[in-house]
Amino acid sequence: MRARGKRIGFVPTMGALHDGHLSLIKSARQRTDGVVASIFVNPLQFGPTEDFKRYPRPLRKDTALLHSAGTAAVFVPDVAAFYPPEFKTAVSVDDLGDRLEGAVRPGHFRGVTTVVMKLLQIVQPHVLYLGQKDFQQAVLLRRMILDLCVPVDVRVCPIVREKNGLAMSSRNAYLSSEKKEQAAVIRRGLQEGKRLLRNGEPARRVEARVAKLIQSAGLSVDYVSVADRESLEPFRAKTGQAVLLAAAKLSGVRLIDNVLVDVT
Ligand code: AMP
Repeated sequence: MRARGKRIGFVPTMGALHDGHLSLIKSARQRTDGVVASIFVNPLQFGPTEDFKRYPRPLRKDTALLHSAGTAAVFVPDVAAFYPPEFKTAVSVDDLGDRLEGAVRPGHFRGVTTVVMKLLQIVQPHVLYLGQKDFQQAVLLRRMILDLCVPVDVRVCPIVREKNGLAMSSRNAYLSSEKKEQAAVIRRGLQEGKRLLRNGEPARRVEARVAKLIQSAGLSVDYVSVADRESLEPFRAKTGQAVLLAAAKLSGVRLIDNVLVDVT
C-alpha cells in the first residue's frame, strides 16, 4: 500500500472487540485508503497481579468483526516472537507515565509505549487511531511520537458508550448486567463534576464530590482528578481546558472514564 502511495490507518487493540474499537476502524476507513488493525494482549503492560491471563481472547470473533468492518489487514503477533528472550529495549515517557493510571499501575505505560513503538515500526502507518477512553495513554503516545520524531499522525476518537452511559471496554465483559448498571455511576459522576466545574466550583471540591458519588454506589475509587489536558498535572486555574478523569474498581474489575471540560 505504501509503495502505491496509499495512506494507511492503524488501530492497535488488545482484542475482545466492541463498538468502541469498531468506531476507530470506521474513522480510519473514512480518512485513509486502508486500515490495519492489530490484536495483541501485551504482557508488558500488565502488572503481576493483573488480568493478563484471564483477559478475553475471542480471536475468531474479532477477526470476523474486523473483516466485516472493512479492515484491510489484521496483525496478530505471537508473544514469544514479538518479545524473544534476548529482547532488552523499552520506551518510556518521563513524568506523564507516573501520574494517575501510572501511579496505580507502575510500569503500565512503559509497556504501552514500548509495544506501540514496535507496532508502528512494523506496520508503518501514516495515521495512528486512538480512543479518548484511554486519555492518558493518548497523551503519552502523542508525546512519544513528537519526542522521537515518529512519522505518523495521531487521531483521537470520542468515547463510545453503552446505553446507560458506561464507557465500552473489553473488561465490561467481566461484569453482570446488574454490575454494569452500578458501574454507570462513573459516567454520571463525571457529568455532575463537569457541571460543577462549569459553575465555578473549585477543582478540589469537585474531585471530592465526584469520588463520593462513585463510592456511594459501592465502587472503590482509585482516583478522581481534574487535570491539564497536556501535562496531566492537577488543573487548578480559574479558566482553561481541563479533563476530568476517574478510575474505580467494581468487584475487582478496573474501570476508567473521562470527560473534557472547558472552564470559562
Ligand atoms: P484496547 O483494546 O483496550 O487496548 O483499546 C484499543 C483502542 O481502542 C485504544 O485506542 C482505546 O482507547 C480504544 N477504545 C477502547 N474503548 C473505547 C471506547 N469505549 N470508545 C472509543 N475508543 C475506545
